[in-house]
Amino acid sequence: MKKVSQTLVFTGLLLAFSVNANIQLQPGVSGAWIAGASGQGIFVNIARVNDHPNFVVAWYGYLNGEQIWLVGAQPFEYGIETLVIPMTITSGTGWDTNFVESDVIRTDWGTVTIDFTNCSIGTMQYSSNDENYGSGSLSLTRLTNTDGLSCHEDTGSADTIAKQSLAFMREEEKMARDVYLKFNQDYGQNVFSNIASSEQTHMDAVLNLMNIYNVDDTSTGVEGTFNNSDLQVLYDALIEMGSTSLEDAYLASALIEETDIRDLDDFSAGITATDILATYENLNCGSRNHLRSYVSKYEQLTGNTYQVQIPELATQVAEILSSTSEQCGR
Ligand code: ZN
Ligand code: ZN
Repeated sequence: MKKVSQTLVFTGLLLAFSVNANIQLQPGVSGAWIAGASGQGIFVNIARVNDHPNFVVAWYGYLNGEQIWLVGAQPFEYGIETLVIPMTITSGTGWDTNFVESDVIRTDWGTVTIDFTNCSIGTMQYSSNDENYGSGSLSLTRLTNTDGLSCHEDTGSADTIAKQSLAFMREEEKMARDVYLKFNQDYGQNVFSNIASSEQTHMDAVLNLMNIYNVDDTSTGVEGTFNNSDLQVLYDALIEMGSTSLEDAYLASALIEETDIRDLDDFSAGITATDILATYENLNCGSRNHLRSYVSKYEQLTGNTYQVQIPELATQVAEILSSTSEQCGR
């Protein structure tokens, strides 16, 4: 039971990663969006307040048969792709002439995190303070546009994506290295120290490209510390996951490799620079081998068959695990 819930937590967390797959927030995302299924959804309005763009959202849904409205607004700057918006739920007063402004009770409900994959679909993750609502993730599907307002999908050039991906991958490879160094300390298995050295060469390969493309290296030199807050959260969670047993450490390690493969594939789809693509394929090849090693260790140790941890990779991981170790690099 514990495994299942951990996997779900990670999958939710990992969704936040793709920095390449989204369009920038812009007036053109204004309109009505279906959230999850037809009949519940959000109205988005990019408003101008105090000379700043504000993301205003109203979410209508149901709880125990009652209709629920949640509202939120959050200032932002153009150029970003994802926004966390605090949401409020109100109660306390009556209809029309029975409405008393001072009786309105505004309760902090929690937050939604919204990003748009393109002008037609997106994702809304939510996390409520109220356990009746809990947390989760809903797909967004465009229902209506605002008349006269167009939405642009070509914001953010391939160059920007490539550069963002390098800074991110540098730290993701570091996260892998740091987790394996810690597991090596805890469990003293060669597989961890060997793969940690391999992750160091992956970090070096990415840094090499960052130097070529003039991208600042914002990664910290400190083991277990990350500039990217998502990676910090993930690192902490993986260390915790692997702290219970060697078996769990192998599972956490395999999850890192699945994540790596997924992120490299996602980034590669949005990049044209051939030197970056070649390096990413090389890293991906390394990750496939690492995944094979950790899975084989896990299966030897437990006698269980490894189950893929990122569901969308099911076919790919099955193919990787049914093929033998590859020779990576040119
Ligand atoms: Zn790697
Ligand atoms: Zn790896």
